[in-house]
Amino acid sequence: MPDVTIIGAGPAGSTAALLLARRGWDVTLLEQHRFPRDKVCGECLSALGIEVLDRISLGDRLRTLSSVNLTKAILHAGNGDSATAPLPRPMLGISRALFDEFLLDEARRAGARVLQPARCEGLEATESGVRLRVRDLQRNTVESHEPAHVIVADGKSALPGPAPDHTGDFGIKSHWTGISGPRDAIELFGCRGCYGGLAPIEGGRWNAAFSVPASRLRAHGGDIETLFGELISENAGLARRLDGARRVGDWLAAPLPRFAVRATWPAGVLPVGNAAAAIEPIGGEGMGLALRSAELAAHFLITSDGIANQAKRSRLRREYRSLWQVRGAACRVGARVVSSRMMAAISTEILNADARSGNVAMKLMGKSG
Ligand SMILES: Cc1cc2nc3c(=O)[nH]c(=O)nc-3n(C[C@H](O)[C@H](O)[C@H](O)COP(=O)(O)OP(=O)(O)OC[C@H]3O[C@@H](n4cnc5c(N)ncnc54)[C@H](O)[C@@H]3O)c2cc1C
Repeated sequence: MPDVTIIGAGPAGSTAALLLARRGWDVTLLEQHRFPRDKVCGECLSALGIEVLDRISLGDRLRTLSSVNLTKAILHAGNGDSATAPLPRPMLGISRALFDEFLLDEARRAGARVLQPARCEGLEATESGVRLRVRDLQRNTVESHEPAHVIVADGKSALPGPAPDHTGDFGIKSHWTGISGPRDAIELFGCRGCYGGLAPIEGGRWNAAFSVPASRLRAHGGDIETLFGELISENAGLARRLDGARRVGDWLAAPLPRFAVRATWPAGVLPVGNAAAAIEPIGGEGMGLALRSAELAAHFLITSDGIANQAKRSRLRREYRSLWQVRGAACRVGARVVSSRMMAAISTEILNADARSGNVAMKLMGKSG
């Protein structure tokens, strides 16, 4: 059976690994961090992702790990107004520590060989394929791998070709208890020039994740706690929810990627998840896209007569574009609207006047299927 090395064991990499291992492929999965680990994310899995998990017979097992069903979205404008809209299809609140470890375990169970902690430090084309430089982070030794196929699932597209431009935005996140909010809603909050969300996750906790301009983080010397205090002061709904709440996890921060599906990929390499494209996180679609692109890439490898088949690679890229393009544009507009005090206030008015108006936005974000 052909061999494949997959770089990164986030939702995209582990899903690709388990699908190929189930089909008897010789799979090596590299992950630089030890699991479980927390990750900057809103921790809401969209219906797109839940559908993939159901198709690959993991949905029910995942639901036993987290039964935090999200059935509605609540928008809080900075002026304190809010509006509620039902989600066309439910989402699931689950921490990345739990979700990513669950998928990695499933990949291992399916037969993937997991090298962890191990980092891919280089990727170069050779005459016969691709050579990877892999550092075993426990022993601090470096080895070369020359697999027949390479899937990049590094979450940032740093390895295949030039890295995408920085967006100038950061994601920040932490876990909380004692939030006075509903346990079946994803809540969005507009702040000054940025936005964020609260979502319930397993263990009675909430996840708070915000997208903030790097300049605001810099203005506070990187002190996220102080910056978050400022964000709370900019949204009355957020202040209400957090009154009496307690932070139970460390603050994490990471640069926020945002780029479209590339016109070409290096020979011998397939990107999946955020290595293929990245959208504004406001719609909570990133993990769903990671799972669906991994499913498409695995199917491509299983059914194609070789990774070099250009026509099929172009078709896969087109399938990726149809996943990311409209969602990406809709989420960008959504982020701008929620980040503007005036436009967020108008949006809550419109939503309250006609609840169906939210359906269009949610449909464009990919929430209706
Ligand atoms: C603020 C914010 C909120 C978000 N909210 C949501 C949400 O609510 N719902 C949602 O679905 N999405 C959300 N997202 C997006 C989501 O986090 C990503 O789309 C998703 O993590 C992409 O999955 P992935 O597997 O492609 O990459 P990742 O999850 O980033 O995984 C990549 C993995 O590769 C490993 N890796 C990287 N480089 C190497 C290397 N060289 N060698 C070995 N290993 C490597 C990393 O350690 C990591 O484990 C949010 C993002 C942000 C920033």
